[in-house]
Formats: sequence, structure tokens, C-alpha cells
Amino acid sequence: MIFSNMTIKKARELMDNNELKSSTLVDYYLDNISKENKDLNAYLSVFSDEARREALETDERLSRGENPGVLAGIPIAVKDNILVRGYNATAGSKILENYVASYDATVVRKLKDAGAIILGKTNLDEFAMGSSCEQSAFGPTKNPRNREYVPGGSSGGSACAVAGEFALAALGSDTGGSIRQPASLCGIVGLKPTYGRVSRSGLIALASSLDQIGPMTKNVYDAALLLSVISGHDVNDATTLPGEKFELNEDMFSGNIEGLKIGLPQEYFIEGIDSRVGQIIEKASKDLEARGAKLYPVSLPHTKYGLATYYIILPSEASANLARFDGIRYGYSVARTEQGRSARTEQGRSANNSSDKNMWDIFIDSRSHGFGDEVRRRIILGTFALSSGYYDAYYNKAQLVRALIRRDFIEAFKKVDVLLTPTSPTLPFKFGEKTDDPLAMYLADVYTVSANLAGIPGISLNAGEVEGLPVGLQLLAANKNEDILVKVANAYEQIYNQ
Ligand code: GLN
Repeated sequence: MIFSNMTIKKARELMDNNELKSSTLVDYYLDNISKENKDLNAYLSVFSDEARREALETDERLSRGENPGVLAGIPIAVKDNILVRGYNATAGSKILENYVASYDATVVRKLKDAGAIILGKTNLDEFAMGSSCEQSAFGPTKNPRNREYVPGGSSGGSACAVAGEFALAALGSDTGGSIRQPASLCGIVGLKPTYGRVSRSGLIALASSLDQIGPMTKNVYDAALLLSVISGHDVNDATTLPGEKFELNEDMFSGNIEGLKIGLPQEYFIEGIDSRVGQIIEKASKDLEARGAKLYPVSLPHTKYGLATYYIILPSEASANLARFDGIRYGYSVARTEQGRSARTEQGRSANNSSDKNMWDIFIDSRSHGFGDEVRRRIILGTFALSSGYYDAYYNKAQLVRALIRRDFIEAFKKVDVLLTPTSPTLPFKFGEKTDDPLAMYLADVYTVSANLAGIPGISLNAGEVEGLPVGLQLLAANKNEDILVKVANAYEQIYNQ
């Protein structure tokens, strides 16, 4: 059976009517994975046996008339920086290659409580640093829409899993665009919730003031549904908003956007944008206008400082978060490897004997061998920005500019309900195109990082294609206004599919 048009919503209806079995759906994805994952590399680990067993159990429970939850029997992929108890969580890094999670992330526990079946863990740029999935220590993931192209990043494995028929939906994480940009490049829906909406407990931290976990799905309804399951206050994450669980309502899916105000930030449509992307996004705005929305030009004057601010704050926080990977407490350690012995002998710092390493050698060698280039680059940048004498000039200044960026959005949302922009300034790019030029790679996130700096929610959905390559549309809303995002995104989806 082919399920390429399947969504969570449809699968639920079919399963509830006894027209589809969870085990059939799980087998379909596992079969696709076994045929294609070798080439596409969407998954780093696949939980075949457990997924099959759980699917059969769910089928039995459903046939007995039980209700195992809103996601009963739904196969979902999880990015490999989110912990699933008893399984590896590598974060795409050699330093965590053999790390096994000892507990479930809150989002994973919530998925399981809702009856979902976790199919496996998906590939990502190392520690979620990157925009192409080329920085994974376990090889790149390919874009299932065209295998010569990157799937975007850092949640490239999750995007590939959903777009390539290897899961019905997935979780990603978004620190500067890592859900929205790969969703855009693979032609699916990706939603970054408001900061604090979803617990980060059990997410391997990149930059704690920016990180959010969110859904990657085939349509807007599924994204909203998953968000309703994973959101809410969590005692294990003090940054979660008290009582803020996201709930679905009928108005969100009415398609009625009469009188809704959509802002077009002028700064997002100028420098660096591929004109073919610009045209598609402009057409999307006109389509929404034809449905009754009102378009307004708006200005977010500090947009031009977004990337520079992000690339001070992110490395600073990342350098602190990654300090725990020291070759002693977690994962890879030269103290336990042959490689450590030879590396150390080469450098002539100690004898060919693992027992006489001093502590600093273990730190330095483990981190040098365990982390990849991009991670080391950012640790160095962040450590520098936080060092005494430079802290005020860089980190503090970046925090001040961050406040201005946040204020731009607050002002804009006094005038409009949502902002409409491209997700990515360019079409998907080919492997190797940006790997030698970190700045070119960083520019892939020029439209996405500001939402993280401001803490506001954003969604990316497909708005068209150029030469078979998807182009994503981004909608941004004020804090906690995911309902408006979903409403406009869903209305656009209706227009696009008609
Ligand atoms: N691509 C951006 C970066 O490299 C965003 C990462 C993310 O959202 N995790 O930092």
C-alpha cells in the first residue's frame, strides 16, 4: 500500500474506523527506511522491533475499543538531540557516539503518553549547528525532493523523514531556524513555538535562551495537533510558560481570514533574496489578500543586525553548554581510546601509556577529537565573546541589540496580526556549495534567526517550487499567538491545494 498522501489526521480517522492498522503504517515506513535510508541517511538509528511491537499492541487496543490517545499508533521520528530512554542520543557528534539516554525528554514522554510510536532518531548537523545537515559526524542527509541537494539543517534528518515517506511526522529543534529552514527546503510544514511553550528538558542544549522543540509535518493541522500534545508547563524546565498549553479550536481551521492584517517587512525583501523566491512569496501574499486579508508594508529596522547578534549570543551560550563534554563525564574520551594514545604520542606530550595522562590533556584531546570543525569554531568564538575585556564589547552589546530586535516585533504586532516573509533567501543548494564558507552558510538563516532572538513563534510551509525545488513561506506572530499562525497558514494551505 502507498501512503504518500497520509497525514496524522487521516490516519487517525482511518484507524478509528478500523480501515487502517497502525502496524500496516509502521511496516510501510520501516520498509521504506530499509530500502532508502542507506542513501538518504535520514535516520541515525531505527527502533524497528519496538515500533512493530508497539504498533501491534496499539492495533489490539483499538480493536478492543480502547482509546490509547490522540496519537495512538502514529509513527513519529525524533531528532537525535532529543532523548529517548534506552537509545542513543548522538546530537550528530562523535563525542556522544556511544551515549545512551537514561530518561525520556518531556516531549518524548508526552508523545508516548498520547500513544505515538517512535520510529527512530534523525540526523542533524553536529549539536544542531548548521543549515545543511552536512556538518553531522555521521555523514550528510540528502534532500528527498532531489538527492543532489541538501535538505537544510540542522533538523535535516527530520525534514527528510517526513518529506521522503520515512515517518508521518517528526520533531525538530529550532535555535535559529533549524525547523523552519529544512521544512522549507524539503517542502513540508515546520513550526517553531513561542519560547517557553514547549519543554526543553531532555533536549541536548545548544543555546538555552533560543532553543525550542517543535513539529515537522505534512500539513498545518498535524503541526498544530503535535504542538497541542507537546506543549505546556514542565517542572523540569523553569523557562516553560506557566499554564501555557496550546489547544486546537475550530476557528483555526475555518479558512476565514477576512480582515486579518498581514505585514510584509520591507527589510526581508531586499538584499540577497533570489528573485524567484521573492516572486513566489509575493504571489502568496496576494493569494491571501484575495481571501480577505489586508496587506501592510511594515519595517523591522534592526533586521540587519539579526545575524550578527545571533552569532555572538549563540556561540556564547553554546560554549558554556558544551563545556560539560570534557572526556570524563560524557561520551567520547581519549583516555579510553587507542586514538588518544597515538595522538598524544605524536604530539610528544606523554608516553605511549594511557594511564599517565593528566586531566588537561584528557580535556583538550577529547574535545579536539570529539568535536567537528564547526563546533570548535563556535566554541572559540563564544569563549572569546565571553572573555573578560571583550564581554561588554560583544556579548553585552549583542544583548542590547537583541532587545531592539524584540522591540521591532512588538511595534510591528501593534499594527498587524502576522508577518509574512520567505523562510530562506535562496532555493535549496547543492552539497559542498557552502561548506568552505561559514558566512555563506550562516546567511541561509537570515530570515529565521530574529524570531528566536525575539522568542516569537514562526511557521514555514510550502508556497511553490522552482525547477522542482520547494520554496517555503514563513509566517511570524506575536508571543503565544500560535493560534493566529495556524489560522493563516491553514488558510494558505487551502488556497495552495485547491
Ligand atoms: N543554522 C543555524 C545555526 O547554525 C540554526 C541552528 C538551529 O536552529 N539549531 O546556528
